[in-house]
Amino acid sequence: MQSPATDLATKTREAHALLNQLYGVQEIYGRADPMHELIGTILSHRTTHANEVTAYRTMRERFPTWEQVRDAPLPDLIDAIKTANYPEVKAPYIQNVLAHIIRERGDVSIDFLRDLSTEAAMKWLTDLPGIGLKTATLLLLFNFRKPVLPVDTHVHRVTQRVGLIGPKVSAEKAYAMLLAYLPQDAKDLFNFHKHFYWHGQRICTWYTPKCHECVLRDMCDYYQSGGTMMLSSTPVPKSKRVGSAL
Ligand code: SF4
Repeated sequence: MQSPATDLATKTREAHALLNQLYGVQEIYGRADPMHELIGTILSHRTTHANEVTAYRTMRERFPTWEQVRDAPLPDLIDAIKTANYPEVKAPYIQNVLAHIIRERGDVSIDFLRDLSTEAAMKWLTDLPGIGLKTATLLLLFNFRKPVLPVDTHVHRVTQRVGLIGPKVSAEKAYAMLLAYLPQDAKDLFNFHKHFYWHGQRICTWYTPKCHECVLRDMCDYYQSGGTMMLSSTPVPKSKRVGSAL
């Protein structure tokens, strides 16, 4: 008889294989410039991609060098990035991150992370003010091809519903659990991230998951429960439960 962890590892790999088949295996791609990715990821929190892009472009037009962004009067930087939600929170984070990098490295570049071990690069990034696990993993996987797994809201929700992680497991804990179940290969982890992200956007959506279209249905704990499972990633109102979407 297999242990629960082995069962979950097997189930995780089976779900991964099904989504690989559905969406196709991609080569890793990301923004060419790691600094763009880093600052863009701060801007992207709780806003749309279009708003993030507008905020980034406006900021770089008004303050063409990173030193100018760091030294900009705070109200001016807040105004420049106002299309991204919470600009008054994001602007000081951006300035603090830039100040930290310039102070420590003497330059606005994080290309050196490529040559660090995954653990050392992760520690360096998460030591930056306001940079958490999600931002660090996105950057390390997309830009430096390190074998890490970004667990954003979609990856968290879908893996929790399917039952690859427990119903109360946080995104931070999910990171270590899922990583342990999957091959330590950057391309594989990139595809796992992308496919669960797309699946969460297109099929396993917040309130009306399209279970009747879903290739994971037969293995999905949430579906099998008729949408009655309480999950930390999805506070679902009764009227919107999975059963009503079938
Ligand atoms: Fe989500 Fe439904 Fe698919 Fe389960 S069966 S992963 S709840 S869409």
